[in-house]
Amino acid sequence: MKEIPKSHPRYQSLITRDKIKHAMIDGFVHETGLIAHGRGEAFDYLIGEKTIPSAEQAEKNAASMLLCAENPVISVNGNVVALVAKDIIELAELIPAKLEVNLFHRTDERIKKIILELKKQGAKNVYGAQADAKIPGLDSNRGLCDKEGIFSADVVLVPLEDGDRCEALKAMGKTVIAIDLNPLSRTARSADITIVDNVIRAVPNISEWIKKLKNEDKETLEDMIKTWDNRKMLKEVSIFISKRINSLF
Ligand code: ATP
Repeated sequence: MKEIPKSHPRYQSLITRDKIKHAMIDGFVHETGLIAHGRGEAFDYLIGEKTIPSAEQAEKNAASMLLCAENPVISVNGNVVALVAKDIIELAELIPAKLEVNLFHRTDERIKKIILELKKQGAKNVYGAQADAKIPGLDSNRGLCDKEGIFSADVVLVPLEDGDRCEALKAMGKTVIAIDLNPLSRTARSADITIVDNVIRAVPNISEWIKKLKNEDKETLEDMIKTWDNRKMLKEVSIFISKRINSLF
């Protein structure tokens, strides 16, 4: 985006929009992905477009949860590939966790395109094309998943989720970690750990925590997770946003 100078106050946001736009033109992102991105931007504006303390704590706990998991899986959609393909691959390798493509507007063509893109960017194995299992109680295409992937996972990291699937995954007994800038969404309110942060910041932050916590003993990590109160954290986010808005006027 040569015409936008780096000194532009909205530079990062404009660059990100451009990435999403091109990913839509290339067929990774569905048109409605642009709308979801817009909602995310609005909430990012409210938190000040940086990682707030509650998100930092959620990222640390998410890293602990992923390190304690037996079979962790990271669910990937078009927006995630458009914005953080390399970072999500790095995170999956560090944990280690499986990557699975899961789409609301699923077509075999888009699934193949996204898997190919992830492989081009360095991913070794990507699940999602088999669709040989179904998440019970979910009628949309998001219910389709791989037996070896999300279906048999104990912990699922779901960046930019829709509430239906988050609730259905929970009903299957899975632990769900969500990355969602909207603290009011059904996803945010039903996940076990909600990271109210932009995926662009959240994914590398979780990787940093994985590196720091990798050598901790499992008991210490489990003790940390046990004391996590997601509802309390969401309240803290809402207080943060109200105080921030009040301080602006
Ligand atoms: P719910 O069913 O959980 O209430 P929804 O189905 O309405 O939510 P979607 O329309 O699927 O939610 O949108 C996905 C969510 O992703 C939105 O809540 C939006 O705030 C969030 N989001 C969009 N872009 C980003 C981003 N870059 N980082 C983090 N979250 C994002």
